[in-house]
Amino acid sequence: MAENRKLGIGTIAIHSGQKPGPEGERVVPIAQTTSYVFKDASHAARLFALEEFGQIYTRIGNPTTDVLEARLAALDGGVGALAFSSGMATITAAVLNLTSAGQHIVSAGALYGGTVTLFAHTLKRLGIDVSFVDVTEPEQFRSAIKDNTRLVYIESISNPKNDVPDFEAIVDIAHSAGIPVICDNTVLTPVIFRPFDYGIDIAVYSCTKFIGGHGSAIGGAIVDSGNFDWGTGKFPELTEPDPSYHGVKYLERFGKLAYIVKARTQILRDMGACISPFNSWLLLQGLETLHLRLPKHSSNALELARWLDKDKRISWVNFVGLKNHPSHSNAKKYLKGGFGSVFGFGIAGGYQAGIKFIESVELCSHLANIGDSKTLVIHPASTTHQQLTEQERLAAGVSDDFIRISVGTEDIEDIIADIDQALDKAVS
Ligand SMILES: *Cc1c(COP(=O)(O)O)cnc(C)c1O
Repeated sequence: MAENRKLGIGTIAIHSGQKPGPEGERVVPIAQTTSYVFKDASHAARLFALEEFGQIYTRIGNPTTDVLEARLAALDGGVGALAFSSGMATITAAVLNLTSAGQHIVSAGALYGGTVTLFAHTLKRLGIDVSFVDVTEPEQFRSAIKDNTRLVYIESISNPKNDVPDFEAIVDIAHSAGIPVICDNTVLTPVIFRPFDYGIDIAVYSCTKFIGGHGSAIGGAIVDSGNFDWGTGKFPELTEPDPSYHGVKYLERFGKLAYIVKARTQILRDMGACISPFNSWLLLQGLETLHLRLPKHSSNALELARWLDKDKRISWVNFVGLKNHPSHSNAKKYLKGGFGSVFGFGIAGGYQAGIKFIESVELCSHLANIGDSKTLVIHPASTTHQQLTEQERLAAGVSDDFIRISVGTEDIEDIIADIDQALDKAVS
């Protein structure tokens, strides 16, 4: 394909990072191996010295995973990507690649639950302090940034409130303080939102969700835009010699790839949360239909949200595609071709009605995941958030009547019919 033609997102999702294999294999082969035979002693020495890129050991690189990484990087328009065994391993690595004990990060408050506990408890035990701010108030980021703040962390759409941040305002604040912005883009994917188009520096994904798309594999990835200037003196870990790797200076040696190479050769090497080659392969199968699935997820979600919004058995609907949502104008500005498909609604009758609804759905699956082709529902108050007191639940945005839905790609008439009959049983 001509180098200078800009490929569309669907073509990238199907082709990027791959050429037919040595035997002409059209599908990416699964390189189910731990290690790789070196050509000779000097080849081995060059690989270990980072003088040449190549495979050594599957903990730090694998040919099947390479294709996944190249394709994810291309979808976001980044310079490189690095896959991990899960979304949580990805987020942990993305932060630890820049942050040590005694330092600080500023984060949006309403985050994926696992990220909240990572930031509030596990990072705290490692001596990293996190300030949580309201993502809908960009100025709160400015007030929270200190001299030892290393990065700003946000999600491109929040759960359960469905807030979409003013990305450009937050990016300006972080960049004027000389620090990068990391954005979790799991729920929107590059089909709906491209973080680097708005100045975000690093994207993180749980590929477990829409990227895999079929609920079959756990995985994640960091994608680096290559745009952040690490050379200001504020990031010695990228400019000074790394004693754990023959004194390599990442920025000097790898330029725009400095952050992502360091994440591989330090964090992935030492913490070891590598993805299995088979899971990389499953995620690549998912990626080939990402551009077809996301518009269908989104149009189904919009139709369902409008239907719920008019229904008397429903007290509220938090879907950013509805005109009355406080983030609707940000969503219209930043999101393309849809508003995502994960949202919440309140069921009249509260806690008991919520449980009855969940027990009454037949087509929808009751489970703790999002982003599957199948429609998924959960009642957080009686499941994921049951350990909390009612007051703590409300602070987390989880009211007793709250049902979370991840709208699948089934026929919308069938999704609505299932929810309609379950609401009849739940709300009398
Ligand atoms: C699921 C999820 C994660 C964590 O990913 P795992 O693959 O489950 O580790 C992180 N962020 C968001 C937004 C998620 O939905």
